Amino acid sequence: MRIIVIGGVAGGMSAATRLRRLDESAEIIVIERSGYVSYANCGLPYFVGGVIEDEDDLLLQTPESLHERFRLDVRVLSEVVSVDADQRTVSVRSVSTDEAYDLSYDYLILSPGATPVVPPLPGIERALPLRTVEDVEALAGRVDTSPRSAVVIGGGFIGIELAENLRHRGIPVTLVEASSQVMAPLDPEMASMVTDELERHGVRVLLNSSVAEVTPTGVLLNTGEAVDGELVVLAIGVRPDTRLALAAGVAIGARGGIAVDEFNRTSNSNIYAIGDAAEKIDAFDGGASLVPLANIANRQGRTVADHIMGLEVAPSTTIGTAIVKVFDVTVAATGMNEKRAIAQGRIFRVIHTHPKSHAGYYPGATQMALKLIVDSASDAILGAQGVGFDGVDKRIDVIATSLKAGLRASELAELELAYAPPYGSAKDPINMLGYIADNLRQGLVNSIQWSEVEDRRNEGYLLIDVRTAEEFVKGSIPGARNIPVDNLREHLEGLRGEQVVVYCQVGQRGHTAARLLADEGVAVVNLDGGYATWRNSPARNQPEVLV
Ligand code: FAD
Repeated sequence: MRIIVIGGVAGGMSAATRLRRLDESAEIIVIERSGYVSYANCGLPYFVGGVIEDEDDLLLQTPESLHERFRLDVRVLSEVVSVDADQRTVSVRSVSTDEAYDLSYDYLILSPGATPVVPPLPGIERALPLRTVEDVEALAGRVDTSPRSAVVIGGGFIGIELAENLRHRGIPVTLVEASSQVMAPLDPEMASMVTDELERHGVRVLLNSSVAEVTPTGVLLNTGEAVDGELVVLAIGVRPDTRLALAAGVAIGARGGIAVDEFNRTSNSNIYAIGDAAEKIDAFDGGASLVPLANIANRQGRTVADHIMGLEVAPSTTIGTAIVKVFDVTVAATGMNEKRAIAQGRIFRVIHTHPKSHAGYYPGATQMALKLIVDSASDAILGAQGVGFDGVDKRIDVIATSLKAGLRASELAELELAYAPPYGSAKDPINMLGYIADNLRQGLVNSIQWSEVEDRRNEGYLLIDVRTAEEFVKGSIPGARNIPVDNLREHLEGLRGEQVVVYCQVGQRGHTAARLLADEGVAVVNLDGGYATWRNSPARNQPEVLV
């Protein structure tokens, strides 16, 4: 049996090596256009920044090492230029000599990845993309010439990683983002913390700004502003590379990727497609999605190898879990965000917390922001987001695992997580999310979101800040009255019969206040996530709040 794999990086090489582990006799040929295989694209931004100093560290395998261990026939600098699905042949062209030849196959695995989106703007050819080792060599070469300034176009994962790494090299950086926030997987009140961190490290962030032209000295924005950028980097996203799939006549899906079933079979049963080029099956609704991430590509490589070899294979679905380092901060998300839940017309609850990374009395504890989105009717976990200096990765991974396992949000309270003071709290942030979810599920308290404060006030609710007077004077929601939670019992007479929004710094004292007032017959709601969430939200900028 001959299996041809197109693309020798994340998905393709996972498939090829798994195939060999399952079948010593199969003929496995990997065709790779670039000069490298098995390279760490996820590490490329850190080579630009000098954090990874040796380019060889990015190259995990070579054709020789892959032949030695796996007897793979790896052909680099070789491009598959066409596929004849009826004859089951591919045409391969040597990138160096231009010679071409045909190869037949029993199974074909397409893992050609994605191509950077390049908008048709004047001067765009001056903007460098970052996708391959060749790209990083070009970019790092430019950085070595110490450009006076850089513009990064795009505020997604790769744009942000590049902005950070260019700052490491001492280059003044402007990041231009067309939408109203960076990091689309986050909701705005979480994304604003990422913007703050970028700005804290000297990145100028321009939101709601599109590049109209790349000029010889920088970029011209749609606002008319000219921004200096001797170096311009383009990172506005990728689209699935479907050229070979189209040539092979296999179906392309609604989202523009290669359409596949749950075992990554295309519409032609001898052709599989994996990784960034293929559409994914969304775990929530079974619909098609595009999630260009390395762990999914690797997982799918294994799936197709197992399927070809006749093993039992679990259907491949994705929830979309991602993480990125932004200077000193970790930003991570899993599942759906609030924007998507609203777009799908779901009825859901939102929980914001700001717990410590580990026991507050043990040195080095830092605060993080966590957000959990929960289906109101079923208590199912829909998604989570986290931003913080320490411990965010662990919490988002636990929630991603719980989501995949089908745990209810309230069941997070039951998780027995490893605890000692340097690592967590006896009530871990995950357990706290579970407690809050359970309180809401059982109707013990009603909460409102930052976006609802203004509406409630217009409906006549009193806004009461239950923090201490010292905290209150340092900053509060305009129009709030300060009654510290410990003094609340003395003010009950004046509050009975009123409708009240209470808030504290992070929501916890607000919960205590809300329980106390509710027991006394006051119509009360607690501001979820407290002042800390409101302060990071777009509400802080709305003039109508400033009464
Ligand atoms: P790739 O790994 O892109 O491999 C495709 C290969 O196919 C390429 O080498 C290409 O040369 C070759 N090819 C294409 N067409 C042909 C052809 N016709 N003939 C022969 N060869 C061909 N993901 C994460 O999960 N976490 C991260 O931190 C992360 N960081 C990233 C940072 C950067 C800068 C980049 C670019 C990506 C990052 N990713 C990250 C995404 C991750 O790298 C991709 O999701 C993953 O590599 C996709 O695997 P793939 O096999 O589909 O495609």
